[in-house]
Amino acid sequence: PAGIVVVGASLAGLRGAEALRRGGYDGPLTLVGAEPHRPYDRPPLSKHVLAGALEADATRLPELTSLRARWRLGSAAVALDRAARTVRLADGSVLAYDKLLVATGAQARPWPAETGGDLAGIHTLRGRDDARTLRTALVAGPRHVLIVGAGLIGCEAASCLRDLGLPVTLADPHPAPLANSFGTFVGGVIAGCLRDAGAVFRPGTQVKAFEGDAAGRVVRARLADGSALEADLVIAALGAVRATGWLRRADLMADPGGLTCDAACRARAADGTACPDIYAAGDVARWPIPLYEGRLVCVEHWGNAVEQASHAARNMLAGPGDQRPYTHLPAFWSSQFGINIKLVGLTAGADSVAVVQGSRASRRFLAVYGQAGRSIAALSFDQARWLPAYAGAILAGAAFPPILDATDQPRIERA
Ligand code: FAD
Repeated sequence: PAGIVVVGASLAGLRGAEALRRGGYDGPLTLVGAEPHRPYDRPPLSKHVLAGALEADATRLPELTSLRARWRLGSAAVALDRAARTVRLADGSVLAYDKLLVATGAQARPWPAETGGDLAGIHTLRGRDDARTLRTALVAGPRHVLIVGAGLIGCEAASCLRDLGLPVTLADPHPAPLANSFGTFVGGVIAGCLRDAGAVFRPGTQVKAFEGDAAGRVVRARLADGSALEADLVIAALGAVRATGWLRRADLMADPGGLTCDAACRARAADGTACPDIYAAGDVARWPIPLYEGRLVCVEHWGNAVEQASHAARNMLAGPGDQRPYTHLPAFWSSQFGINIKLVGLTAGADSVAVVQGSRASRRFLAVYGQAGRSIAALSFDQARWLPAYAGAILAGAAFPPILDATDQPRIERA
């Protein structure tokens, strides 16, 4: 037999391969990875590695000792032939498979070259090599760091850079940082943290292009209103693009937004049918989430990569009549400005938000997000002990805002 090929040798790929072995799969198992590195963890990159508290090499993930996998690292998959059941790699070799797990994740959205993206001093942060390069540039002592994009990675980087004493400006078109993830009501708290940490937050700011000096190094950003900002180091934190380019000609429902799967994590062909031999997991997978009426989502969180990979592996080993749906409550964490942030559920589509424990003023609180009278997500700023109870309320589809204990009514601060 050709065996199982896993494309993408990072968190979801490794955990999927391990789950296959734990599930009793004994046949050939190959992991293909574009990067030359064994699987490593990304969350520490924008936290401890940038801060200099952890070497980039120390992020390697522990591996199951009995994995018995063939590693094909440093060579990306470039094409999939579904009819022949083969994957072609960049080095020209062709791998046959009986079953395929797609775990190619995502890449940082680059700044376009036409508007200065190819200038020296413009960085993105997705992989270990990016973190190492960026760390070296920070140690050199830039005079004006500009972070474009106040999402999770932009804010975590801003927090680290201020800890290092570097001058930081964070520019974003939204009125508050993290507005896409948490809305402006909660994002305003992070705006306060940025200010107190000595960073400059520029809301409503659209960077149009970067300009360089004669040596091709970035010197300033040109804004939509015609003004300019000095910048000798830029972090473009613009979000991620799913790594589906290699599936372009495979007649699957794949685009830069993800590879669409059915509820059992099987990839969907362009005609909508589920492929019995191709599964997907992690950041690359777009799947119908049962808890949110089967809305198609890509959940770009660590916990989802681990759980979805295990689930896909389980279904890969099960018969066609025993394909179980993947039911998962999305959850992630972040740490920035000394605050431990945790979210359960999805905030997209929320029409209201209420602080149900603590207060925004103290920066220690738990907020619940509601949509059409139902609680859909809970967010903790240093109040993680409350989270399991509210996660239960979200799983149960509780009314918004949820009252956990009628004898101890929480004080509710509403947006
Ligand atoms: P990835 O980790 O993106 O791995 C995909 C792998 O596939 C990569 O190694 C890539 O090189 C490889 N690949 C791509 N294309 C090909 C190809 N054609 N052929 C072969 N290989 C290919 N989540 C949290 O919950 N909390 C956090 O605090 C947090 N912090 C983060 C900080 C940073 C800086 C980043 C980048 C992410 C963070 N995340 C966090 C998200 C989390 O790391 C991801 O959800 C997780 O890495 C997803 O794993 P994955 O294996 O699906 O994809």
